[in-house]
Amino acid sequence: MNAALAELKRRLAEVHDLQQVTLAMEWDQLVMMPHGGAEVRAEQLATMNGLAHERFTDPEVGRLLEELRPFEESLDPDSDDASLVRVARRDWEKASRVPTELTAEITRVASGAQEVWAEARARSDYALFRPWLDRNLELRHRYIDCFDPEAEVYDILLDDYEPGMKTAEVRAVFDRIKPELIALAAEVASPDEPAFMRGPFPEAEQERLSRYVVEHFGANWNNFRLDRTVHPFCSSFATTDIRMTTRYSETDLHSLFGSMHECGHGLYEHGVDPALERTPLCSGVSSGLHESQSRLWENLVGRSAPFWRWLYPTFEAAFPAVMTDVTADDLYRAVNRVEPSFIRVDSDEVTYGLHVIVRFELEQELIAGTVTTADLPEAWNARYADYLGVEVPNDQVGVLQDIHWSFNGFGYFPTYQLGNVISVQIWEKLVEAVPDVDAQIEAGEFAELGAWLRSNVYALGRRFTPQETIERVTGSALDAEPYLRYLQTKYGAGVAA
Ligand code: ZN
Repeated sequence: MNAALAELKRRLAEVHDLQQVTLAMEWDQLVMMPHGGAEVRAEQLATMNGLAHERFTDPEVGRLLEELRPFEESLDPDSDDASLVRVARRDWEKASRVPTELTAEITRVASGAQEVWAEARARSDYALFRPWLDRNLELRHRYIDCFDPEAEVYDILLDDYEPGMKTAEVRAVFDRIKPELIALAAEVASPDEPAFMRGPFPEAEQERLSRYVVEHFGANWNNFRLDRTVHPFCSSFATTDIRMTTRYSETDLHSLFGSMHECGHGLYEHGVDPALERTPLCSGVSSGLHESQSRLWENLVGRSAPFWRWLYPTFEAAFPAVMTDVTADDLYRAVNRVEPSFIRVDSDEVTYGLHVIVRFELEQELIAGTVTTADLPEAWNARYADYLGVEVPNDQVGVLQDIHWSFNGFGYFPTYQLGNVISVQIWEKLVEAVPDVDAQIEAGEFAELGAWLRSNVYALGRRFTPQETIERVTGSALDAEPYLRYLQTKYGAGVAA
């Protein structure tokens, strides 16, 4: 092997290890750590992130990347080595612009802010969280200042989650979608929730059901865990070590959909080509692509009629007390009921995008300073009244509901809705390749579906850009039309079985 390439790989593997160990500590903070550990943990995380950043931005890495330019020319651009050098160079040029002290400070403050956010959310006390939000914003501005002053500011934030994507592209897609969603929600909303959807669903049975479903989707307990947390998420420390989390409440089924969602994230990470392990190519390519997979498993599979025909007997056996006189068709309709509400993660497929668009707009305004943190709750509530037609009763179910601004994740939210859009683009291709996918789902067979996604999407890891990945899989660029068609077909005339 080329000596410079070998040395680059050695260094990148070390950086990757440091980053994955940091992820493990973050998982621990959210899932296992006693509250009292927070202060020291923030320092530990800042040290680890600082160390990873320092090692990665070492001038020697830059020198190796320069030395490799002629060698790179000789490589097949689709080869793993070419992808590795290309992606490492892009990451390196970006990371090198940000001082290590700033990276560490962002991590330290974010870690503290998450602890305060959790408390503020529990007490519905926005004033408690606001100073931390101010500090996060100030640090985000210092981060923005590290980049091209000519760039659209939000592009810099978006690039961390959707590399190469421009705010203008997202705005174009969202502008197309927004009026359609508002109109469709108004047309098909049904406020009457069937009584059986309020349970009670005993937690132990919910957990058994979640495990049963994700096992069928392809999560195996040799490589996956499912734990409890306040805000469900999925983390992976290796393709062989996937951590899903969910939350349980006896009066709803959110744990089941949350588990299917996080399982989609987990299957993506688990399906990355093991040859990419311990390299910067070893993860999903972007937040949007990631979300396309969580939403695909949660919605296109987990809210489909064939899925509920398959799950019905198991579901009925799990909750016999609430399932008297409830058919598979009743369940399917109930889990697809559209009703504008306050909480993004619990919302239906039609209104979900509106929750994201509220955040996308407010983030741009916060960063631009046209909305201040003092005005934020009011601005939030006004937009919910506007787009979703709901009066937000308090900040707990309003502006404090999501963790993202506490971890300084400005720019993350739009990727959720991009994921919905991309999920249907991919699904249309999948149905061409696996035409009897509905029959397979109804039979509880998910292996061919999973294998297609694995070989066409997951295995690629970060070899190509998000846009190239979408093109390779679907043959087209980002496109809102399949998604809008899907919603119209499924919901337009009311949900039919
Ligand atoms: Zn997700």
